[in-house]
Amino acid sequence: MPHMSAAPGTTNKVVLDRYMKLDIPDGKVQAMYIWIDSTGENLRGKTRTLDFIPKAPEELPMWNFDGSSTGQAEGSNSDVYLKPVAIYPDPFRLGNNKLVLCEALKYNKSTTATNHRNSCREVMERASEQHPWFGMEQEYTLLDIDGHPLGWPKNGYPGPQGPYYCAVGANNVYGRDICEAHYRACLFAGINISGTNAEVMPAQWEFQVGPCEGIRMGDDLWMARYLLHRVAEDFNVLVSLDPKPIRGDWNGAGLHSNFSTKEMRAQNGIVGIEAAIEKLSKSHARHIIAYDPKEGKDNERRLTGLHETSSIHDFSAGVANRGASVRIPRDVAEQKMGYLEDRRPSSNADPYKVSEVLVKTICLDE
Ligand code: ADP
Ligand code: MN
Ligand code: MN
Ligand code: MN
Ligand code: MN
Repeated sequence: MPHMSAAPGTTNKVVLDRYMKLDIPDGKVQAMYIWIDSTGENLRGKTRTLDFIPKAPEELPMWNFDGSSTGQAEGSNSDVYLKPVAIYPDPFRLGNNKLVLCEALKYNKSTTATNHRNSCREVMERASEQHPWFGMEQEYTLLDIDGHPLGWPKNGYPGPQGPYYCAVGANNVYGRDICEAHYRACLFAGINISGTNAEVMPAQWEFQVGPCEGIRMGDDLWMARYLLHRVAEDFNVLVSLDPKPIRGDWNGAGLHSNFSTKEMRAQNGIVGIEAAIEKLSKSHARHIIAYDPKEGKDNERRLTGLHETSSIHDFSAGVANRGASVRIPRDVAEQKMGYLEDRRPSSNADPYKVSEVLVKTICLDE
C-alpha cells in the first residue's frame, strides 16, 4: 500500500458530515462575515449566530474584529468595524446559513487602506446611466500543501506547455475536482459565474464571472475567490493568485477584464469601443498602478510581452490580438458592437480597483 500523504492536522470529512447534518433550531442562522485583509489580496472570515433569516445586507448588524491581528489597526485601538454589504447562500453550511461580504471600516468609520469598495460603489453610481458591464476571467494556480504546483513531479517539471489548455485525460489534467466543486459552489451561492477552463500551464485554471453591472462585479468575484480557497481547503490544496507563480517558460496568471457600456452593446457600438481604447491609451500608467496590489510590481514579472501578454511599458490594442494590452474579440469586430477585453490586470488584482478605474477613464473622463 503506497504511503498516503495528508497535510498535518487533516481531519476526516466523513465524520464532520455527521455534525453538519444535525438539525439546528428554527430561526437560528450562522452568518460568516468575510472581509479583505491588509494585504488587499487575502480574505478573512468569522461567524456569528443570528436569530432571524436575513434578506438584505442592511438588516444585518455591524460587527468588528481585532484589527491588530490582521495588520489593519494598532493594538491600542484595535477594533475594526465590519459593515455587511452583500449576502450569499452558504454552500458549505447549507440551509438558511449565509456568507456575508463586508467592508472594513476604521474606528471613525472611514475606510481602511485596503477597502476599495466604497469609492468603487460611488463611481458606479455616478456612471449608472451608462450601464457599465464587466466580465472577469480569474486565472489561478493550484499548489500542493508543500507549495509545489499540484501534480507536478516533485523534482522537476512536467512536459512543456501545449497539451494542457482545455485538456482531457489523466496525463494532462491537474486538479479538475477543485474546479468542478468550486463551479457548483458558486452556482449554489448565486454568483454570476459564466464558465471555467483548464489553462495553458498545468495546474492552472480559470473561471469567469459576468457579465455583472456595476459594484456586483467586485462583490461576486471576491466571494467567488473566498469559495475557491474554501473548496481547495477541503481538498488539502492551496490556491495561488500570484501572477507569475513559476519563472521561465510557463504562462502567468491574469484577471482579463471585459468591459462594455450600453452604447457599446448597441448597433455600431464599435465607435464607443474605439473611443474607449483611445482614452485607455492615454492613461496606461494609471491603469497599471490599479491592476495589481503592489501598484505594478507584481505585474512586472508577468507583462513581459511573452506568453500571451503585452509589455508593461507600452499600450497596444488589436482585433483578436492576445499579445496586446486591449483586445477586441473577433466577433465584436465583425458585428461592430459588444465589448473590449483589457488583458493587463494581474490575477491578484482587486476587482473593485479595476472596475473603478475603467469607469473613471472611459465613462466619466476623470
Ligand atoms: P477569452 O476568449 O478571453 O478567454 P472568456 O470566454 O474566458 O474569454 O471570457 C469572456 C468574458 O466576457 C466572460 O466573463 C463574459 O461574461 C464577458 N462578457 C461577455 N459579454 C460582455 C459584455 N458585453 N460586457 C462585458 N463583459 C462581457
Ligand atoms: Mn476574542
Ligand atoms: Mn478566458
Ligand atoms: Mn485565460
Ligand atoms: Mn481573456
